[in-house]
Amino acid sequence: MKSLVVITGASSGFGKAMAKEFHDAGHPLLLLARHVEKLEALGFSDTICQKVDVTDQDTFQKAIRQAEEVYGKTDLLINNAGVMLLGNLEIQDPKEWQQMLDINVMGVMNGMQIVMEDMKKRQHGTIVNFSSLAGVKPFVNHAAYCASKYAVSGLSEVARMELSANDVRVIRILPGAVNTNLLSHTTSNTIKDDYNAWLKETGVGRITPEDVAKTVHFVYDMPQAVNIREIQIADTKQDA
Ligand code: NDP
Repeated sequence: MKSLVVITGASSGFGKAMAKEFHDAGHPLLLLARHVEKLEALGFSDTICQKVDVTDQDTFQKAIRQAEEVYGKTDLLINNAGVMLLGNLEIQDPKEWQQMLDINVMGVMNGMQIVMEDMKKRQHGTIVNFSSLAGVKPFVNHAAYCASKYAVSGLSEVARMELSANDVRVIRILPGAVNTNLLSHTTSNTIKDDYNAWLKETGVGRITPEDVAKTVHFVYDMPQAVNIREIQIADTKQDA
């Protein structure tokens, strides 16, 4: 059997597409999300589904250790879980900033810390972190989301440097706009309407979660000696 792949936020969007991609390639999976029923509905063989909020490191760690007892050590952790609550800094509820920082940043760091020590010891393993184009460039009404994704870009590169001598890869994926449930988290209807109008006007949105999943599979399948450190992937029509 191939090695264990752990995917956070596998109940929707990119996570769900990556679950299918790696399942079809024969990897045993640990799928994590808060809505465990959506994970179970996928009906995959050799797959453990657990209700885990990535901000809770204890349950996150227990889920990984239990899956490792069944399928062996985690060879690929994909820190994909995230939320996007767009808002204008001047008026946005600080609770929304906190939620994004907790899930998008702390969730990623929690996951990395759980698998890192063992990957170092084994001198093998890959961590894929989901940042965003909003993790390298600014977008209007994205202040707190950008803050969270710039953080993921920065911490991933530091971790890459720290783990490189142990042959452990840290890879960051920076997608542009892709049609998933991500925008639905935003509470401002005006911002959502503006975003949808931009998608319509530009024609951006043809790229699919499956395209992103294939890309992650490709970078993972490269030899361990090859680290594609960062991938920016967006609809060809996206100019920003
Ligand atoms: P979706 O909203 O479709 O999926 C988000 C996933 O994250 C869901 O499975 C959700 O599951 C999970 N999730 C959210 N909060 C938590 C939590 N606290 N604990 C565990 N799981 C959680 O969005 P996408 O697939 O689009 O987003 C995936 C990643 O890609 C995110 O990090 C996002 O920021 C990033 N991204 C997306 C872009 C896009 O345009 N779609 C562009 C750039 C980056 P549940 O609710 O069941 O917990």
